[in-house]
Parts: sequence; C-alpha cells; structure tokens
Amino acid sequence: MTASIIDGKAFAHRLRERIAGRVAQFRAAAGRAPGLAVVLVGDDAASAVYVRNKGKMTIAAGMESFEHILPADTTQADLEALVDRLNADPAVDGILVQFPLPAGLDEARIFTRIAPDKDVDGLNPENVGRLASGLHGFVPCTPLGCVMLLKDTLGDLSGLDAVVIGRSNLVGKPVAQLLLRENCTVTVAHSRTRDLSSVVKRADIVVAAVGRPHMIKGEWLKPGATVIDVGINRTAEGLVGDVDFAGALSVAGAITPVPGGVGPMTIACLLRNTLVSAHRRAGVPYDKGAL
Ligand code: NDP
Repeated sequence: MTASIIDGKAFAHRLRERIAGRVAQFRAAAGRAPGLAVVLVGDDAASAVYVRNKGKMTIAAGMESFEHILPADTTQADLEALVDRLNADPAVDGILVQFPLPAGLDEARIFTRIAPDKDVDGLNPENVGRLASGLHGFVPCTPLGCVMLLKDTLGDLSGLDAVVIGRSNLVGKPVAQLLLRENCTVTVAHSRTRDLSSVVKRADIVVAAVGRPHMIKGEWLKPGATVIDVGINRTAEGLVGDVDFAGALSVAGAITPVPGGVGPMTIACLLRNTLVSAHRRAGVPYDKGAL
C-alpha cells in the first residue's frame, strides 16, 4: 500500500480563494473590508517571515492588514496598551500577537487581554472555555486546519479512534477538543505516555504535534491510518515533520507531507476566522457553507 498524500497547500489555496469571494460580498454588504492586525515584537527571523506572509495573504484575500512591528525591548505595559488600542479600533476584526514573545514579556497576560470577539487565534481563555464547552467561539488556526484536512480526507469522523500526540494549548489540546466534537474516541498522548507505539497502533487517526524530527515510526501505525503531521523541525535535511514520512508511506492510508501539509492551513484558517469575526461585528449574517 502507498499512502495518498494530503495536499494541504492546494486545499489552503482553494480555501483562500473561497474566502476572497466572501470578502468581496462582505465589503459590498458592510461598506468596509475585514481587518486583521498582526503584532510582532522583536526580530526573530522565522516569526518575521511568517508575519510578512500573513500580511501578503491578508491583502490578497481583499482584507485590510495592519502590521505593528515593535522592538525587542518593548515593555509589557506598552504591548498591552497597543492591544487595548486594537481592541477599541472599529476597523480591526482580528488581532494576532505573534508568539513566542521575547523573554520578559508575559504571553498569558497578552492573550487574556485580547478581546474575545477579536481573538482570531483562539487563545483567550474565554474562547478556550467555549471550545471545551461546545459553544461558538474562535478555534485556534492550526488545529482547525488539521480537522478540515481530516474531514476532507475521511468525510464523517464519527466513531473513529484518534490519537493526538502532544498536549500544548496551541495545538494538542484544541485538536483533541475538535476531534471530540466530531465524535471521535480521543486519546491524548504526551511525554509521560507509556508505550506510545502501542497507543498509536490502535488509531485510525494520528495527529502528531510534538516537535521531534521523525519520532513516529511507520511500523507504529495501524495499516490504513490517516496521519496529520503538525511538526515543523529544522534539520540538516531541511524542514521535516514528527513522523518518519518515508516509513509511514507504505503503512498509512493518507498522510500530510512536511512542508506542504498542515503548515499552509494555518494562515488560511486565520483569514477564515477574521472573515467570521467581521461578519459578527458588522451584524452581517454569515453563511458557513464550505468555510
Ligand atoms: P510544544 O513544545 O508546546 O508541545 C509539545 C508536546 O509534545 C508536549 O505536550 C510534550 O509533552 C509532547 N512530547 C514531547 N516529547 C514527547 C515524546 N517523546 N513523546 C510523546 N510526547 C512528547 O509544541 P507545540 O504544540 O507548540 O508544537 C508542536 C509541533 O508543531 C512543533 O514542531 C511546532 O513547530 C509545530 N507547529 C506547527 C504549526 C503549523 O503547522 N502552522 C503551528 C504550531 C506548531 P509534555 O506536555 O508532557 O511536555
């Protein structure tokens, strides 16, 4: 068996095209464009590239992009004052503060400060609680992208055994919540899990969000399993995922590559969340449709 490749890059491209179509309709209805504010503190090279790409894709989708690039020695008070201004700015529908923040700045206080109705990254505790309680709210972008790819590949996920490896607030926990919402039987594995290979062996769905190159081996997988590799690891061979891709190809039913799998979904889902926010804030009905 050779696994089919889940082409996240192509899926994200189509999603961004549909979003651009909806943005045009929103502009006609509301008389303004949806606005996304992205805040970058410091000069981390990878974050700077990511923020630049977000800005470009925001504009390409027909939205307004507000970029705030602050020096690494920005104080907590100054950053919070900027978040407060963005919370109050009617042109801003979504606020994203790029993490990690430089040492000395308190990330938890920042994502608690972002107004829940503009928290398109879904990290404010109110939105985290809404997801856990099954209420409407913003869902973190990478987990949302993972579940979109799974539903596109498998259709109904109901009753499937899913193993999520990793329990971070950013990826593992929200992926597990979303899969539970899709009626999967969910196991969350982490660094203290015993006999991880046997846990993975029973899974119809494996979501790997660890940050360790090629840790999950092909022989751990149940034949035919669908594998979503969230890991982004910079190695001498370039960017690789958490799954031993070559080993998994002959066992899995479908698998995301790294790069070109989950990665491109994150920005597309950020634009999607911003579009939803703009509709809610402007009182324009939002037709979920294919988004
Ligand atoms: P974290 O470092 O916050 O979390 C890693 C998780 O992996 C922890 O829960 C940890 O367990 C678990 N873990 C570590 N070692 C093992 C092990 N040996 N066996 C089982 N579990 C283990 O990472 P993130 O969740 O933020 O990110 C995970 C990966 O996803 C990274 O490679 C990151 O770059 C990538 N990523 C990709 C994104 C994208 O595609 N757009 C977006 C965000 C992240 P414990 O809790 O016990 O410590």
